[in-house]
Amino acid sequence: MTAHTAAQAGYLVAALLFILALAGLSKHESAKQGNTFGVAGMTVALAVTIAVATAAANGAISLAGLGLLALAMAIGAVIGIYRARKVEMTAMPELIALFHSFVGLAAVLVGWNGYFEVEAKGGHPDEFSGALLGIHHAEVFIGVFIGAVTFTGSIVAYLKLSAKIKSSPLMLPGKNLINVGALVAFAALTVAFVLQPSLPLLIAVTIVALLLGWHLVASIGGGDMPVVVSMLNSYSGWAAAAAGFLLGNDLLIVTGALVGSSGAYLSYIMCKAMNRSFISVIAGGFGIAAGPSGDQDYGEHREINAEDTADLLSNAKTVIITPGYGMAVAQAQYPVAEITRKLREKGITVRFGIHPVAGRLPGHMNVLLAEAKVPYDIVLEMDEINEDFSSTDVVLVIGANDTVNPAAAEDPSSPIAGMPVLSVWEAENVVVFKRSMAAGYAGVQNPLFFRENTQMLFGDARDRVEDILAAL
Ligand code: NDP
Repeated sequence: MTAHTAAQAGYLVAALLFILALAGLSKHESAKQGNTFGVAGMTVALAVTIAVATAAANGAISLAGLGLLALAMAIGAVIGIYRARKVEMTAMPELIALFHSFVGLAAVLVGWNGYFEVEAKGGHPDEFSGALLGIHHAEVFIGVFIGAVTFTGSIVAYLKLSAKIKSSPLMLPGKNLINVGALVAFAALTVAFVLQPSLPLLIAVTIVALLLGWHLVASIGGGDMPVVVSMLNSYSGWAAAAAGFLLGNDLLIVTGALVGSSGAYLSYIMCKAMNRSFISVIAGGFGIAAGPSGDQDYGEHREINAEDTADLLSNAKTVIITPGYGMAVAQAQYPVAEITRKLREKGITVRFGIHPVAGRLPGHMNVLLAEAKVPYDIVLEMDEINEDFSSTDVVLVIGANDTVNPAAAEDPSSPIAGMPVLSVWEAENVVVFKRSMAAGYAGVQNPLFFRENTQMLFGDARDRVEDILAAL
């Protein structure tokens, strides 16, 4: 077996492990195993890549190069391990957005490197001739474009998710025209570059793509951010695949395509779940108009304390708990699991209603509840439970806001109009746990808080749930 075949075999094993990882991650029960496959695949991939680079007959990597590689890996590993151990679950999406930006940046650098290695040197006549050279020009250009869009798009997503900038959509006049104009400019520049590659053209496409990425994501409102995160995940996959073509690395092409297509499919599923147009979201909020400011007067809200909530629960036959981002912030899942156990012991039916985008990442609530050992069979998806609210005595809305907002179902002018929500307001009694009357992630006021059957239980969700537990 030649070194080349051995490397290809290694890459094949890694690619298979990545596919097994994706399959594993699609179910709660097998997610951990899926992660293990992913780690194993990445280990094989890294080992083979380093072996290929060091064993290259033309001395592709020197001893000094190897030292630099080891140093880069050590620095990367230290930062990666530190961040992964330290990051709060609630900050995962912004960390992932930041990771995507690195993939984008890497693709830009690989593209630029490709240009300096080939085009800038007059095109390596022995390696690339005729059509092959033209393909190389296109690979450089497309790789830089996708990478740069992913880079700035992911940075804006990171800033929005971490609340460093406002999550409301940027509404520049003629925003659709700006996006279409950038795509037309990209197409024209690509043709020009393939015909006659030059540095100014490469600089021009990099700038156009950086601005387009920034504008695409800035134009999307907070409520649609989950779709944007998975869409950027998809873009980062395509950026990696483009880099794979340039580097002639089959594994990078396969892995990039896996990430690209699974991210695109996840975006599609999330768009369907949230009743959003896929095309509209990937086109930077195409067709979405600015909503009203949301300072409508809904009247007075009522408050309740923990003891009265405990009474309400003790007298109920059926209870549904709808958790949201606030439960994650407060880490209230453990006392919530305790309350659930206590109420079930009293013969009360307790179930959970999980909205597909509750929290800050898909599956966020399921992970927290599983962590607190809430039985899977009482944790239901929105579609499975939405019809049961009208026959429920008490609903506890724990740190959820946008996902239980009746305006989405009833007010066509609301920025979140059309997004399916948990119909908690149909229950006999609703208790909302939050610290203030502040809006949720999408920045929209919630008329639920002012309904006659709703009472607010103010304070940190964990403290309040523990108070109820004590009273029970
Ligand atoms: P929201 O983000 O709409 O609201 C959470 C509420 O929790 C806030 O109103 C806040 O109110 C309250 N809260 C925060 N901290 C605490 C605390 N310590 N104790 C008690 N309450 C607290 O939550 P939802 O889960 O309903 O909705 C998720 C939103 O995030 C959607 O808009 C979704 O589109 C978006 N999103 C979802 C992603 C995903 O993949 N799931 C990814 C990115 C965004 P107060 O400050 O008054 O306490």
